[in-house]
Amino acid sequence: MKKIIIIGGGIGGAATALALSHVGLEPVVYERTKELGEVGAGIALWANATHVLKNLGLLEKAIQVGYPITNYQFNSQRGKELVNIRVDRFELPVIGIHRAELHQLLWRNVPSEKFILEATFERFEPKTNQVHAYFASGLEAEGDALIGADGLRSCVRAALLGDVPPTYRNFKTWRGLTEFVPKDYRPGYIHEYLGRGKGFGFMMLGKGKMYWYAAATALEAQPDAPTGRKKELENMFQDWFSAIPELIAATDEAQIITTDLYDRPPIQPWSQGTITLLGDAAHPMLPTMGQGACTALEDAYVVAKCLKENPDPVAAFQTYESLRFPRTKAIVEQSLQSSKMGQLKNPVAVGLRNVFMKVMSSAISSRFKSLHSYRA
Ligand SMILES: Cc1cc2nc3c(=O)[nH]c(=O)nc-3n(C[C@H](O)[C@H](O)[C@H](O)COP(=O)(O)OP(=O)(O)OC[C@H]3O[C@@H](n4cnc5c(N)ncnc54)[C@H](O)[C@@H]3O)c2cc1C
Repeated sequence: MKKIIIIGGGIGGAATALALSHVGLEPVVYERTKELGEVGAGIALWANATHVLKNLGLLEKAIQVGYPITNYQFNSQRGKELVNIRVDRFELPVIGIHRAELHQLLWRNVPSEKFILEATFERFEPKTNQVHAYFASGLEAEGDALIGADGLRSCVRAALLGDVPPTYRNFKTWRGLTEFVPKDYRPGYIHEYLGRGKGFGFMMLGKGKMYWYAAATALEAQPDAPTGRKKELENMFQDWFSAIPELIAATDEAQIITTDLYDRPPIQPWSQGTITLLGDAAHPMLPTMGQGACTALEDAYVVAKCLKENPDPVAAFQTYESLRFPRTKAIVEQSLQSSKMGQLKNPVAVGLRNVFMKVMSSAISSRFKSLHSYRA
């Protein structure tokens, strides 16, 4: 049985371990943290991702711990509807889910001895028919192939493609969880509100949790306001649609996380011999289309299928990359393009954007539909 080394045990690495074990390969995941975990935030799993969960035998469980999404609604900052997209028109559901719940579903279905924790990858060395991986602790591992699923600042990517930093896209995000449900929340909806250089969205996850996210143009590594991040958000969104300040007020400050947003221009090749990349390590994207984790799930399923069909990892990785590059490149670019709509600050431009969105609602809807109709 072929042993595949996976660097990184996030959503991409854990999904790959599960997909590889389904096709009879032996994955071993090396993760730098002490425990497997995910940040306290939500995620939308569109039909392209629930298709992968179905094939991995996890869809029913994901439905149980998640929440069904039917509509993706865009509004002006005061709550005037611009576009309302039905997203439940496929044979598969769309699910709002806590990231930790999704992550657990994936790794709990792989034997725990396949996850080596506190293993910080440093470098690899291809040897005849084998690849050796070296870790900060002095640990050394050998396998038939190696997959870098080590995220935005991937060390595997740096070794393959050079140590180029990701591109900061002038946006900062805040994410929060609360049990408060605003009276204007429509069950099944993702509500999003667009203003001048900032935006806000919220959706229900499973187990009665409401997940919200905000984004605003900001300098890289901009610190929190001296008043703290909750007060800062309250000030930023005080005159927006009433549900927004209510959600911020109802959230414990300790539950609010901030993240700077980066991507990388898509480049090929990302595979070299028996080594390849997956998820954010291969194609980090802005979260505007909500596809980063969804495409990592697609990658995991496709790489396992290629390794099953072709016992030679070099050829399998070439096929995997040729199948994944065009799709992920298009989504990285669409995600960047969408972020530009949110970056507008001039009131005239914002007014035009809102009119444009209303007029173009069916085109926007078909764009989402075609993204979600992909089946890995
Ligand atoms: C604000 C925001 C909102 C988002 N919303 C959505 C959404 O709604 N839907 C969606 O699909 N996507 C969303 N995403 C994107 C999604 O979070 C990522 O695309 C996804 O988590 C990438 O998974 P990954 O496994 O490739 O990388 P990561 O989750 O970054 O995992 C990488 C893992 O590798 C480990 N690691 C790193 N370096 C090493 C090393 N040297 N040695 C060993 N281990 C290492 C890390 O500890 C980590 O566990 C969002 C992202 C952001 C920032």
